[in-house]
Amino acid sequence: MSEMNTIRVEAVAVGPFQSNCYIVWDDASKDCAVVDPGDEVPRIGAIIDTYGLKPLAALLTHGHLDHAGGLKPFMERYAVPFYMHKDDASHLASIREQGAHFGIFMGEPPVPEHFLAGGETLTLGTLAFEALHTPGHTPGSLCYKLEERLFTGDLLFAGSVGRTDLPGGSPAQLQASLDKVKALPPATIAYPGHGPATTIEREARSNPYLSGGLFTL
Ligand SMILES: [Zn+2]
Ligand SMILES: [Zn+2]
Repeated sequence: MSEMNTIRVEAVAVGPFQSNCYIVWDDASKDCAVVDPGDEVPRIGAIIDTYGLKPLAALLTHGHLDHAGGLKPFMERYAVPFYMHKDDASHLASIREQGAHFGIFMGEPPVPEHFLAGGETLTLGTLAFEALHTPGHTPGSLCYKLEERLFTGDLLFAGSVGRTDLPGGSPAQLQASLDKVKALPPATIAYPGHGPATTIEREARSNPYLSGGLFTL
């Protein structure tokens, strides 16, 4: 498959929470998807313009402000649909309240029209993303897998995992979701919602939440 060599990923850490927005594209077709346009849409747009990309959709890992906050201006700029899990629709709908909690003014969130349940493949031009339902941080958290890449949102970070003490969080669900991710090929590159990229192999070995070390120490 020639396209395996032409996928490119660029990360932009946006907003006060430095959430990773990932611009993902096929360099051959220029077809592009944007994972979590959380804030600073002009910076995201600058990358899209620089490479001459064709944005086809936004993919939301979950409905928290720091990942979904830029969704509306992004969609207004590019007129593309966005995809999410229905179990995070209430989080997205509460984005103004989430913002008020941090003293950040937010406009009305966009209304979701396209839901992913997990387990299906979303084809966007020459890109084929597999959605994985990975609740725990929020009930409707999704990971998106593109060949050997996994966009993990706030499920998994390099050396850590997402909080479960926010509304809708569940430590038991998070652990089950981590088990699901841990079963992926070890060479899978994980692109987290915050901080640097890592691999499943590295996290399985060194992340206490995946290696079991946290619970056996
Ligand atoms: Zn979050
Ligand atoms: Zn986050």
